[in-house]
Amino acid sequence: MASAINILNASTLEDERLEGISQAVGRVFGLRTYVTPAPLNLDRAFDPSRGQYNSTALLAQLLQAYKDGDEKRIAVVGVDLFIPVLTFVFGEAQLNGIAAVVSFHRLANPFYGMVPDDAMTWKRLEKEIVHELGHTFGLYHCHQFECVMRSSTYVEEIDLKRESLCPDCKSKLVATR
Ligand SMILES: [Zn+2]
Ligand SMILES: [Zn+2]
Repeated sequence: MASAINILNASTLEDERLEGISQAVGRVFGLRTYVTPAPLNLDRAFDPSRGQYNSTALLAQLLQAYKDGDEKRIAVVGVDLFIPVLTFVFGEAQLNGIAAVVSFHRLANPFYGMVPDDAMTWKRLEKEIVHELGHTFGLYHCHQFECVMRSSTYVEEIDLKRESLCPDCKSKLVATR
């Protein structure tokens, strides 16, 4: 069982911005959750041919930096993430592992030419952080409409789900801990 959750800030956001999200995330998993700077070298994950950042390379950096920990770590970045088979990803996580990465690059309305709404952006980020962490706790994608573990390709789908786990996922989480 993990002893804590560490949200690693690898973006230009103020840590304070992530504190509120951190508390909400801690409540979902019932674990102490705290924010620190991330020991990531984003440049090394940059793919010049795509103009994006390889999320798997960032996960590898996290695993390298935290070899022995029993904490779950999720890095928050502002850059655009991809994995080779997809145009982009909101995030990536090690299933049943210790590391995850999530990006808010595509979570803000202006990316889609829509009116800025900060509250909405940070709510989406909270959901995606909970989602990717859920994978590190061994949770798969869920088909419950409002469950945070439902897979999302578009921000509209993120908006439809809650920031919490459905009862099924919650009981699986308890079973794995
Ligand atoms: Zn997922
Ligand atoms: Zn669920």
